[in-house]
Amino acid sequence: MGAPGSGKGTQAVTISARYRVPAISTGDMFRAAVASGSPLGVQVKALLDSGALVPDEITDQVVSSRLREPDATAGWLLDGYPRTLAQVAALDSCLAEYDKQLNCVLVIEVPTEELIHRLLLRGEREGRSDDNAETIARRLDVYRDQTEPVIAQYASRGIVARVDGTGTVAETAARITAALDPVAGVTSRGCDC
Ligand code: ADP
Repeated sequence: MGAPGSGKGTQAVTISARYRVPAISTGDMFRAAVASGSPLGVQVKALLDSGALVPDEITDQVVSSRLREPDATAGWLLDGYPRTLAQVAALDSCLAEYDKQLNCVLVIEVPTEELIHRLLLRGEREGRSDDNAETIARRLDVYRDQTEPVIAQYASRGIVARVDGTGTVAETAARITAALDPVAGVTSRGCDC
């Protein structure tokens, strides 16, 4: 987890490779749907462009079907989900059905001014339609109002690890590895990999 611009997508690539789990990004799945012009894409395009969240029922459905795919049986990294308390409840039931659990909720922390700077820069470089000043402000508000309570909820379960997301990509990756290696060690004892 992390605010827009915290580096979730960037770090997800490293985490996915190191622990050999698929990185499942709701934002990427929604952007792919928009790009393909699928019915889901048509439904969510305006929401993404405005910085609002996609409704929980749609998002929960997308994630629960993705978690059923064969590459997700031995574990996964969720990037950008859950982002509301209702999504936490939906994920809880989805995991209970399969007798699976979250091992760790990793939170990448970056000061707000740095987030805005990074997102504006990405908007200039990559042209992502939601990386403009107005939409960035909305996404940060949504994060504070809807997603920070999610972190508090997981913190009360004792599974949150917070890492400093400032500095270089490699520095953050090293902090993440230090936080996740012990957790992954616990996981691997339970399987024959
Ligand atoms: P960022 O974290 O920079 O906002 P993401 O790629 O994670 O980027 O998300 C982009 C957009 O996709 C969000 O602003 C929202 O519209 C939608 N989205 C992604 N994840 C969720 C989610 N879990 N619930 C609802 N909407 C989501």
